[in-house]
Amino acid sequence: MSSSSPEFFEEGALVGVLTTQPLDRLLDYRAPEGGCEPGAFVEVPLGPRKVLGVVWGPGQGGYDLARVRDVTRVLDVAPMRDEMRAFLERAGDYTITPMPAMLRLATRAPGLGGAESMRKVYRPGHAAPDRMTDARRRVLEVLEEYGGLAFTLTELSAQAGVTTSVIKGLVKLGAVSEEDAPRDMPYPRLDPDLPGVTLAEDQATAAAQLRAGVASGRYGTTLLKGVTGSGKTEVYLEAVAECLRRGRQALVLLPEIALTSEFLTRVEKRFGAKPAEWHSGVTMTERRRCWKMVGQGGAQLVVGARSALFLPYRDLGLIVVDEEHDTSYKQEDGALYSARDMGVLRASLCDAQVVLASATPSLESWANAEAGKYARIDLASRFGAAELPEMRAVDMREADLPGGKWVSPVLQAEVRARLEKREQSLLFLNRRGYAPVTICRACGHQVACEHCDARMVEHRFLKRLVCHQCGETRPIPAACPSCGVEGKLAPVGPGVERLAEEALELFPQARIAVLSSDLFGSARALKAQIEAIAQGEADIIIGTQLVAKGHNFPLLTLVGVIDADLGLQGSDLRAAERTFQLMRQVAGRAGRTGRKGLALLQTYQPEHPVIRAILSGDEEGFWRAEAAERRAAGVPPYGRMAGIVLSGPEAQAVFDLGAEMARRDEPLRRIGAQVFGPAPAPIARIRGRHRVRLLVKAEKTAPLQAALRAWAGQFRLPNNLRLQIDIDPQSFF
Ligand code: ADP
Ligand code: ZN
Repeated sequence: MSSSSPEFFEEGALVGVLTTQPLDRLLDYRAPEGGCEPGAFVEVPLGPRKVLGVVWGPGQGGYDLARVRDVTRVLDVAPMRDEMRAFLERAGDYTITPMPAMLRLATRAPGLGGAESMRKVYRPGHAAPDRMTDARRRVLEVLEEYGGLAFTLTELSAQAGVTTSVIKGLVKLGAVSEEDAPRDMPYPRLDPDLPGVTLAEDQATAAAQLRAGVASGRYGTTLLKGVTGSGKTEVYLEAVAECLRRGRQALVLLPEIALTSEFLTRVEKRFGAKPAEWHSGVTMTERRRCWKMVGQGGAQLVVGARSALFLPYRDLGLIVVDEEHDTSYKQEDGALYSARDMGVLRASLCDAQVVLASATPSLESWANAEAGKYARIDLASRFGAAELPEMRAVDMREADLPGGKWVSPVLQAEVRARLEKREQSLLFLNRRGYAPVTICRACGHQVACEHCDARMVEHRFLKRLVCHQCGETRPIPAACPSCGVEGKLAPVGPGVERLAEEALELFPQARIAVLSSDLFGSARALKAQIEAIAQGEADIIIGTQLVAKGHNFPLLTLVGVIDADLGLQGSDLRAAERTFQLMRQVAGRAGRTGRKGLALLQTYQPEHPVIRAILSGDEEGFWRAEAAERRAAGVPPYGRMAGIVLSGPEAQAVFDLGAEMARRDEPLRRIGAQVFGPAPAPIARIRGRHRVRLLVKAEKTAPLQAALRAWAGQFRLPNNLRLQIDIDPQSFF
């Protein structure tokens, strides 16, 4: 495409425009007055509307040229680079996502077409204030310190720690000048040459290797493996520094918004200013600023969630995927893509380096390193005095707990010992809410969601039942919805809220904090809670997998995993891998700063190979065994898979289509692929839509996407049926 594009389209030339509207082709328009570049962001008329688009190449023509309309205008943003267009096409091809949907991913910022809005900024003035106060001095010092950089009112008042009226007062006196400036300003410069920490020997070797990769100016991927606390972040920040020194942009992807602020603080310490931020918690104004500045080169470093991969970088030289094994890198809605894998694709198209950091890499990345496709660096030990925690199993068959209780006597004793030493304990349970099931003791009815094939989960804190599939909530009923008997509904099984209740009974004197994503209205509230805990404002932390990710709690020395068997039950091909990763991550929370940590895994199957691998710490052994099993079964990463989900309001129609697809599998058979199904999806109904799954398996080298396209293209879908293809599916719900 782009290689055959001309350099410029003169006024009136026929151009093909990709829009964000769900059409399966480019639309022809005439280049506007002044012409336009290939890649230009434009506004074009479509029916009565005006829509956003990108000039993708020359127009096709072949019809009544007199009726071709003009591009309305070219937007005042940097044109999309060739490399970005190639990336969207390749990523769309790989994930079988239509191009308009790919373009939507790449334009997720509001008001791109809007006129540049202005805002007030503040710089040093020329007059001295009549009277100097502490507050006034702080304002002037801040302005001086930043060498005349423009601040907004809120930035300046926050930085100087004064009210805005102090600043307004200084403006009146001419000591501070107030000017209009474009709203979207470049981010403050990061200085890669500020001194970092002094790296330990293995860290220094690792950093040198990553720096050399960046300096090569070529593509390459490195798996950076090291236990939590080994200094992976310090090491990859050196790669970021090298990238910035070379004038190229860097992107750091994090799996969890709650981790961002801690990371921003580290970047500020290392490079003297905060980087650009991109995730769902960022205001619309900031999103637009980030999008524009990334395109113009006014942002050197972006820290963000997976969609930051689709920003219009001017010259991307490095992508870091932190906690690369994390499942949140897979987008499970709309365009189904893995940010890790698409990151590698993008880097390969723009001569950038990729660093995949993890204590417990995905089997995919482990296998790529084994095969020599990725380089691999291991950081063997924790930095400084911090040691890895000791790990032990607690055999729950011998614990002899009364019904409705989950903390074994062994674990209780360890928590008590921590309370005496004023250290923290974490009780980990990956289940939100009070109890996963609510059952009627009179008739046996289990309260279920009306729209989904899922049970309602009691959330006592919210005083409601919640469906974890569709989010539907309702008050906890007094009487059974089925038999009408009152007072017989009872919770079955534990959730974090119920565990908190038990902990409170066992340790009435302890301060208990519950960390679960549904208990916090905002990322800010969650962050505040995490900081308070890190400061020691809790004795016992009760948490879901939210706590497994990267937070640093210095006083934490005990981790009790309430149900280590929880993840082993699924039929998911990654069940063992996930449990292994999660348990090691959680255990890694303990004893991070010099104190010896202990992790206790409560299990009913201490002999299970996964539990034994976790305890023994023989990670390579675990991966080799897991790899051998997958290779024998011909499943990822040693074979290819695609998940197909059909859904619709009528079960029969959905099943019929599934059966027809399974029957007419000629295009798949031609490449040696097999179809399994149709079968009801594990969650057979969501939001009132019935769901049927098919699974396609192929050999690693088979041209799967092309075959899938040909196969799916044979069927005409009625309007109310939906077909979704998920390449490399991560979850099977
Ligand atoms: P990881 O990313 O592997 O979990 P971090 O880079 O966050 O590890 O390091 C863990 C802690 O140890 C952090 O507080 C970090 O600042 C500190 N640390 C790591 N390496 C060094 C070093 N060479 N000098 C000083 N502090 C270090
Ligand atoms: Zn529901």
